[in-house]
Amino acid sequence: MAVSLRAIRNIRFSSFLYRALSSSLSSGADLKSSAFFGHNKSLPLRAEPKDRNVQWVFLGCPGVGKGTYASRLSNLLGVPHIATGDLVREELNSSGPLASQLEEVVNQGQLVSDEIIINLLSKRLEAGEAKGESGFILDGFPRTIRQAEILEGVTDIDLVVNLKLQEEALLAKCLGRRICSECGGNYNVASIDIKGENGKPGMYMAPLLPPPHCASKLIQRSDDTEEVVKERLRVYNEMSRPVEEFYRQRGKLLEFTLPGGIPESWPKLLQALNLEDPEVKQSAAA
Ligand SMILES: [Zn+2]
Repeated sequence: MAVSLRAIRNIRFSSFLYRALSSSLSSGADLKSSAFFGHNKSLPLRAEPKDRNVQWVFLGCPGVGKGTYASRLSNLLGVPHIATGDLVREELNSSGPLASQLEEVVNQGQLVSDEIIINLLSKRLEAGEAKGESGFILDGFPRTIRQAEILEGVTDIDLVVNLKLQEEALLAKCLGRRICSECGGNYNVASIDIKGENGKPGMYMAPLLPPPHCASKLIQRSDDTEEVVKERLRVYNEMSRPVEEFYRQRGKLLEFTLPGGIPESWPKLLQALNLEDPEVKQSAAA
């Protein structure tokens, strides 16, 4: 009985996600007044948090390391890390129904529409449900208020973690990105050592250097210039502020400024989330 209830809830989640968007696209209706969302929190099909795994969202500007931390947490908690960027890339590389449509959008340098993203996300959640997954960490979604409203209408988001990094470090980190032209490995040659001053904490982030066989084959993405990176951050901040505000008003936003690289940040992030990593505990005791 419990299994079928959960199945119903999850199927409801993903197919409603898609229907919600299709309906809002065709009617332009106010999402919140739409009857079929069932905004009532006590709806019996909505599982209580204790019956399921976490349903979290990760926000953060490009280059902050959002994917890294979301992926580590998903391993720790046993929930899927669902990055919409990965979903788009996978679909592009497949012969799926959206591949040719996506290729056109990407080739024209346009943003992938809410409709396509929701479609991909719905498919991903349904596939996960079929494998018995519970909970998720979303990375790269929602990106707009409209997406946040659609999500709010169909499932409960427990927590939204907004990862931040001081701008000086972020810029250096983005400019330090390198890719191995042979194996595609991602590295970072930036060695960040900012002195603390006027109450602003200092920070250290070690570079992520390539193994010797990749070292001579490193390339930099042509759009990782200071000008382009700054513009990317400006656009991101402008777009994400309303989404952050949306979750702040609902008391779900956790702001977390990364104090440094992974060794400094990971234990502090776990602390902020009231979690324990057995491996961190072990190494602290050793
Ligand atoms: Zn390589």
